[in-house]
Amino acid sequence: MLKLQDLRDFLPDDRSAVLVTGEINRRWLSGFPASDGAVVITKTRSVLMIDFRYFEAAQKSVQPPMEVVRCTRLIDDLNRLFLQENIQSVYIEDETVTVAYCSELQAALIPEVLTEGLSARINELRLIKSPAETEKIITAQRIAERAYYEVLNMLRPGVTERRIALELEHLIKLYGGERVAFDLICITGENTSLPHGVPGDRVVKEGDFFTFDIGAVYDGYHSDMTRTVAVGSASDEMRMIYDIVLQAHLKGADAAVAGSTAADVDIAARDYIESCGYGEYFGHSTGHGVGLEIHEAPAVYKTNHTVLRDNMVITVEPGIYLPGKFGVRIEDMYLVKGAQAVDLAEIPKELTII
Ligand code: ZN
Ligand code: ZN
Repeated sequence: MLKLQDLRDFLPDDRSAVLVTGEINRRWLSGFPASDGAVVITKTRSVLMIDFRYFEAAQKSVQPPMEVVRCTRLIDDLNRLFLQENIQSVYIEDETVTVAYCSELQAALIPEVLTEGLSARINELRLIKSPAETEKIITAQRIAERAYYEVLNMLRPGVTERRIALELEHLIKLYGGERVAFDLICITGENTSLPHGVPGDRVVKEGDFFTFDIGAVYDGYHSDMTRTVAVGSASDEMRMIYDIVLQAHLKGADAAVAGSTAADVDIAARDYIESCGYGEYFGHSTGHGVGLEIHEAPAVYKTNHTVLRDNMVITVEPGIYLPGKFGVRIEDMYLVKGAQAVDLAEIPKELTII
């Protein structure tokens, strides 16, 4: 496995090891979801340590060369392995291990505990998605799209935001999603000017916008999409704002070229909105990475100069929010591929009037 080799390259010598205890990175390395356990990587071995509750399932699903070892008391079992392999120093995830757990590890582990560099290295590796990871993101997206299409049939004057959000959640699970990727945003009318509005009892009215920001989780991987649709009709102002956001979105997507930077994508979308005079109404970043977490690196913002490379997955989601009136956001995930990123959504972005 490529990622095991990449982490081995991080180790300075064969007397050092990587210890991954965080749930998400453990899953990323082993492919196995569990609330507890650890992955140890040395120059020659990779081991998933897991307790009785998960042992049988892990043995069935974890792929060689990773070994599955049943542990009873994690610290003791780790020390046994470190002694066996003559490990003198061990790197832990400096960005996610708590201060308390770090102190516990320092006190109890035989090797020296090192707190520099591992999280940054893992974050860098997680930027690039394997084909299997991309497939899971796409599957999550298709589940959300199927639910979205079905819910559009319910979108008519009189229905509440809450009803639409609950129906979507139900359908996402029914169609194979593990869960929703985040608290779904289903808002209408003046509430659409709230970028992270919470679905409530607001009733849909003729001539309203309705904003869906929705996603599913499939085998641990998230999807993320926003569509703003009009109910019955749209005013000239609504159409004009929608068109600015759509053009900004397309400019952002066109800038998602391998070799350019996350900042380039943000600037392409932001410059267009600013040139139309609505810069002050676009107060969030243009996007973010998506994977085992709904928001992961790279942040798509003008100060982030991370270079885009093939097989990164980022969102492009510019918006314009007019307080007390309405807002528009259009969001899709893109797979960076050479000179033209692949749009992972199959739902059209043009203004839909229901
Ligand atoms: Zn979203
Ligand atoms: Zn997003």
